[in-house]
Amino acid sequence: MKLSRIISNRNDISRKQANWLIASGRVAVNDVTCREPAAEVNRFSSVTLNGQTLQAGEPCHYLMLHKPAGYLSATLDATHTTVMELIAPELHPDLHIAGRLDRASTGLLILTNDGAWSRQLTEPRIKIPKVYRVTTEHPIAPETQARFIEGIWFAFEQLTTSPAQLDILAPREARVTIYEGRYHQVKRMFHAVGNRVTSLHRESMGGIELDSNLPPGAYRALTPGEIRSIH
Ligand code: URA
Repeated sequence: MKLSRIISNRNDISRKQANWLIASGRVAVNDVTCREPAAEVNRFSSVTLNGQTLQAGEPCHYLMLHKPAGYLSATLDATHTTVMELIAPELHPDLHIAGRLDRASTGLLILTNDGAWSRQLTEPRIKIPKVYRVTTEHPIAPETQARFIEGIWFAFEQLTTSPAQLDILAPREARVTIYEGRYHQVKRMFHAVGNRVTSLHRESMGGIELDSNLPPGAYRALTPGEIRSIH
């Protein structure tokens, strides 16, 4: 919402008066004077007028969970146990998942209540690298690397996946880096080359790596550096 709208809404004053109050330096956003009436202010920012609080700013939550196998990446489900059961209930209100993992998949899962931030992580257009360790049913054919770089045709979405990197670590084990995050993407890519993923573990998303001190099922808050790394 525009800063001028917050000032006029909360004080029953005109937009014109609000613009003047802002331009004359009486308004602060997150404790810093803001003279720009058109500045966009979200629900997480504090706003004061003449030192008096108009909007306190809601707390933001950014969590990394080491997702174990068998938990559904959803906030609510009638039949399956969801990852929310692993998170303290007081943190539940309006948390959402920034990039799901399949029920059998494990590793880094990020939860937040900051939608603008999580869109940076998940929008295919923004191309944040997501790194997965996979094991496969059959030995990985060397030409798989070239096929992943060329992109794989996904008929359902009528698109070719962005170039993905494949590092073969052992005959049936590889590290895959993708820059999108489409439905079952890694499994479908291997399926397209005649193989099958038997386990999949997400190691990182952008600059955020799964903390090796977190056992499966445990979570922690992201550090300010990890949060900033996604802008
Ligand atoms: N790709 C998949 O196929 N599954 C996941 O859980 C994540 C990426």
